[in-house]
Amino acid sequence: MKALVLDEPGQTRLAEVPHPGKPGAGEVLLQIRMVGLCGSDLSTFAGKNPLVSYPRIPGHEIAATIAEAGADVPAQFAAGMAVTMLPYSSCGLCAACRRGRGNACRNNQTLGVQRDGALTEFALAPWTKLKQAPGLPRRTLAMVEPLTVGCHAVRRGRVAREDTVLVIGCGMVGLGAVAAAAFRGARIIAMDMDDAKLELAQRAGAQHTVHAGSTDATTAVAELTGGEGPDVVIEAVGTPATFRLAVEVVAFTGRVVYIGYAKEPVSYETRLFVQKELDILGSRNATDADFDEVIAMLDSGGFPVEDAVSLVVPLEGAGEALARWSADPASMRKIMVEVGL
Ligand SMILES: [Zn+2]
Ligand SMILES: [Zn+2]
Repeated sequence: MKALVLDEPGQTRLAEVPHPGKPGAGEVLLQIRMVGLCGSDLSTFAGKNPLVSYPRIPGHEIAATIAEAGADVPAQFAAGMAVTMLPYSSCGLCAACRRGRGNACRNNQTLGVQRDGALTEFALAPWTKLKQAPGLPRRTLAMVEPLTVGCHAVRRGRVAREDTVLVIGCGMVGLGAVAAAAFRGARIIAMDMDDAKLELAQRAGAQHTVHAGSTDATTAVAELTGGEGPDVVIEAVGTPATFRLAVEVVAFTGRVVYIGYAKEPVSYETRLFVQKELDILGSRNATDADFDEVIAMLDSGGFPVEDAVSLVVPLEGAGEALARWSADPASMRKIMVEVGL
């Protein structure tokens, strides 16, 4: 069968690889239909993720059909069924796992990062990682996982109907936070430097937008919140400036959720943590409950899937698409790879 293999950073090859074989107990054989590519695949391609070893098959945003179910797989996961899956593994033993938070497992392995991913025709998967979403078309199904990351931040921030939420950064992760917060009925302010992203954020449920490049962001957010600041701020950029902005603009006793990875140390006016008595929260990957919430949100038509997809290519074109995207990261939002019809 065919797979897209990254031999080393920047070097892709459409390869002939061994079929994974029959599913064992508790496993299913998946026929991969559609795989979304995101920023993490881009850093794998570019050799910027230190967790990746090569050769590696990338891809972790999956729409698949069950080709065959092994022994001990519940009857609801039968051949022919459309599924997506949680691409993270957890050890079950570390402190995070013992607290039931396997999404932050210290030994986490993600498909396409530490293990081979989904840009291949068939793959084996444990049934416990599968999610059914019978009503969703394939592109929407492959969009579930990237949206769950923002949804998890909304869960961490305990976003409720009465909250005003500021989402800083409207890439796919930020858009997921906007859509999940809107699904919970909150009022949302979206902030970005890119007008097209802000427009998409509006279609995903943001009532207000702030263009961070052309406005004094702090003043704009204060004006939109009667001088109080948002109840929840979700940071999905990962720069020192936005990390600081989050604690500066958030309301007293508010919640700040960080999903962005700051690549350098950030210096803070820590007095704000105390004075405002803030909840400062990290958010990593996503949980089973986030998948359920995103599927329900997508079922209700709560996300402009087609607007978020920039390019659809066959498996044969995935390598070239990654190279093009890598050369100009701002040129594309989400690339979908059609693996099998
Ligand atoms: Zn992704
Ligand atoms: Zn663990």
